[in-house]
Amino acid sequence: MNIGPYQLRALEADRFKLDGGAMFGVVPSVLWQKTNPADSRNRIDMTTRCLLIEGPPGPILVDVGIGGKGDKKFRSIFAQEEAAGGLTGALQRLGLEPGDIRHVILTHLHFDHVGGLTRLDQAGAPQPLFPNARHWFQRRQLDWARSPSLRDRASYQPTNWEPILAAGLGEVVDGDAEIFHGIRLYCVNGHTPAMQLVEIADEQNNLLYCADLIPTQSHIPLPFIMGYDLEAITTLREKERFLASAVERSTLLFFEHDPVNIVSRVIPHGNDYRAEPATWEQESTTTR
Ligand SMILES: [Zn+2]
Repeated sequence: MNIGPYQLRALEADRFKLDGGAMFGVVPSVLWQKTNPADSRNRIDMTTRCLLIEGPPGPILVDVGIGGKGDKKFRSIFAQEEAAGGLTGALQRLGLEPGDIRHVILTHLHFDHVGGLTRLDQAGAPQPLFPNARHWFQRRQLDWARSPSLRDRASYQPTNWEPILAAGLGEVVDGDAEIFHGIRLYCVNGHTPAMQLVEIADEQNNLLYCADLIPTQSHIPLPFIMGYDLEAITTLREKERFLASAVERSTLLFFEHDPVNIVSRVIPHGNDYRAEPATWEQESTTTR
């Protein structure tokens, strides 16, 4: 799909599973199991869906999935498998190598969003996978990731991002910003401090990369908030704000973790909201 000068593609990096109860917080399993059935270990299917934005600044990636550094135990806990060669495979099918990527926007530093930033070299040391890219971090998220709480520290693995900063590839921003014409970052704080959502907009169309504010289409109703969120009431207020705006502007919501639905629109439903199906069109081949 195209917005302004940008061509957008969804790239699936990994398939994995997370605990269904943790994904839906206080919502009873009889409700969420209707759309997201759990396996025998109570886990639901998840994906890591990155966004490739091609335009004047060069190829831009939004988030990079889990990547390949996890050991056997890690892969078993999360049933993680890189989808068809992972993110690198998806890029290569479009004629792109990791070295072609010019910018990587990191919504936040949880492992399922930034694990793919580094890979292990022969000596087992993590090295940047995108050596020619500027990597866009939020200051307060970086500060938090470097000294997380006991509650969320398992989500943060410094080997995912510190080699990027050590190599001088980091671009640390503080707060909302328009980093390129028509590409804006919006900070939200309920899931974790200063997670950045990414909006791509022109006069007619706009798309919101929802990250973990609305990780799947099933999370559109306001009370459907992940148990992982540090500040659930803050998430609720942020969802109210972004969903009201999405109705008004007919925003296409892009879901990072939904195993089936890439995008949807949203319409009011009583005092709440519900998904309005939308199709995602992208060319599977490139002329490159
Ligand atoms: Zn997260």
